[in-house]
Amino acid sequence: MNPPEGQMVDYLRLSVTDRCNYRCVYCMPPEGVPFIPHEQILSYEDMAFFVRAAVEMGISKLRLTGGEPLVRKGVPDLVALLRAIPGIKGISLTTNGVLLPRFADALKAAGLDRVNISIDTLDPECYRSLTRGGSLEAAFAGVEAALRASLEPVKLNVVMMPALLPELPGFVTLTRDRPLHVRFIEWMPVGGCGPHSPVDTLTKTEVMAALEELGALGLGELRPVESPEGWGPAHYYRFPGHLGTLGFIGSVSDHFCGECNRLRLTADGRLKNCLFSDHEIDIRDAVQARDRVEVLALIQESLEAKTFDKNLLPGRTTRGMSQVGG
Ligand code: SAM
Ligand code: SF4
Repeated sequence: MNPPEGQMVDYLRLSVTDRCNYRCVYCMPPEGVPFIPHEQILSYEDMAFFVRAAVEMGISKLRLTGGEPLVRKGVPDLVALLRAIPGIKGISLTTNGVLLPRFADALKAAGLDRVNISIDTLDPECYRSLTRGGSLEAAFAGVEAALRASLEPVKLNVVMMPALLPELPGFVTLTRDRPLHVRFIEWMPVGGCGPHSPVDTLTKTEVMAALEELGALGLGELRPVESPEGWGPAHYYRFPGHLGTLGFIGSVSDHFCGECNRLRLTADGRLKNCLFSDHEIDIRDAVQARDRVEVLALIQESLEAKTFDKNLLPGRTTRGMSQVGG
């Protein structure tokens, strides 16, 4: 399908690793997912070679993701390699945050612009059970490290599970005095997380209604605002006087595939043009042969096969979220 008039594909999500220090219930089955063998993982130089070609094809914004990107050694080195590529206008990182206290300054110095940190609950016990062993305190230490290092705007990703509703006042409070941008995301039954996962998602409409009720209880009117710097489909709102914002990503209910601006590269070099599809193109051999012309042709092939079908719905794909990078 041709892209809608004026639609640019300018955003690449780069999965640095499929490994993770967590096993979130909405992302992976309890036993985890089989790891890609080390020898099949792209080196940082391979990734930078690919990105140089991708820039020629229109890519200018990068997000590093995973698995947990910060469990791979030397991510600041990767950021520095990518930052040096002419045509790259922005680099951000999605992380569970727990390794940020160790790496935030080095990431900033290497040229990382900003971070999204996944925190789905404000209750330490609930966090431990959702992540299957994680520490909420460590995740918030990551938030503080990101703010201190000016990796801003700092966004918090919250997958909307039913237990979220009583926690909404807490998330709203987070945006009151700090420049934190909480983004509520509809859970997607992608990959292996579906049948194993005890998760059910709330919709954007349900959470929005609950927030408006809070407004009626004295917080004032929730008003739409411009997106804090971002490249995705989120819509943002703010309560009067709050420093931060509340955003929504209606991954299932919004049907935003018609405006999709992204490609994804897995850690083993598969180029994916849609999170909801198994279509992928192996670019690893061409990248490792440093065959620029072939890499450009493969990117073109992926772009031509990209569907902008608004009626697409998430479904059972072979790779799960941690293997694609969300
Ligand atoms: N480990 C990092 C993290 O958790 O932020 C980066 C990788 S994670 C796969 C990227 C994003 O996908 C996270 O914000 C996570 O909450 C989200 N995610 C994972 N599984 C999801 C699902 N089934 N539906 C919606 N979002 C999901
Ligand atoms: Fe790991 Fe992120 Fe998936 Fe949680 S959401 S299991 S932290 S990749």
